[in-house]
Amino acid sequence: MFDNLSNRLDGIVKRLRGKGRLTEADVDEIMKEIRAALLEADVNVTVVRSVCNRIREHAIGATRSQALDPGQQVVKAVNDELVRILGGETLTVQYASKPPTVILMAGLQGSGKTTATGKLALWFKSQGRQPLLVGADLQRPAAVEQLRTLGRQVDVPVYSDPEDPILTAYEGVEEAKRLGRDVVIVDTAGRLSIDAEMMEQVRLISGAVSPDYTFLVIDAMTGQDAVQTAEAFHETLQIDGVILSKLDGDARGGAALSVKEVIGRPIAFASTGEKLDAFEQFHPDRMASRILG
Ligand code: GDP
Repeated sequence: MFDNLSNRLDGIVKRLRGKGRLTEADVDEIMKEIRAALLEADVNVTVVRSVCNRIREHAIGATRSQALDPGQQVVKAVNDELVRILGGETLTVQYASKPPTVILMAGLQGSGKTTATGKLALWFKSQGRQPLLVGADLQRPAAVEQLRTLGRQVDVPVYSDPEDPILTAYEGVEEAKRLGRDVVIVDTAGRLSIDAEMMEQVRLISGAVSPDYTFLVIDAMTGQDAVQTAEAFHETLQIDGVILSKLDGDARGGAALSVKEVIGRPIAFASTGEKLDAFEQFHPDRMASRILG
């Protein structure tokens, strides 16, 4: 998804090979290429600006470094900056001292939220936990049934009550306590676009269950809309982390990757396919090396 960035960087490294120091003109040229590659990858304009400023500082610093040649130094500066905008560290889940640990899933309809809920349950199982799924998406008629199917596939119980989403969420946590399940993942309703009623509902659900983590599922294919979606959700809910879905698609991806910079919350997990095990913790350093090829 960032082929152009790595191609352009290869070109820069080749051109700068053997050069002792970078001139101001070299730096200008390099920055022009990096800026163009990031914009082509659909990275948010404001993010591009701040990223480029920081890379420029490091690239100019390269003139003073002896250890690496200037080309390598530029690649290192870009790599470090990518790791930084991607979130730095991998998010470690801190389990509640008094179980269950409650996870709230938020996101637009079609973002891959319900799928990610099932995948997350499987991931928690792989960590030795015993999750319970809660179907509080009563908006989309098939959502609870979809969650039950996922629950069967990953062998995790599903709680839902067709009467009321807020009550369902609350009772779901109580059910987990009764059954001795130590993680509860609450799937909530989304809409095709942000609307006040959906936001109010998810806010009330959040109030009813006091989640330890609120994850926002963002479809990597949605381009710049991803940034606006994240901002809108983050205004209403305290988002703790983003789950980036459909990373297997041919999205340019830059917009979704700008989310961390815009809302200041890390990408926690990446969903990379329709299969339930196509899901992993997000590692900024690995992603940065993948981007740079
Ligand atoms: P929700 O409305 O947000 O709950 O979205 P769903 O979980 O129902 O997902 C919407 C569609 O996207 C479904 O057809 C899923 O199979 C598909 N989907 C979800 N996650 C991924 C993913 O990581 N990669 C791909 N290729 N498809 C996905």
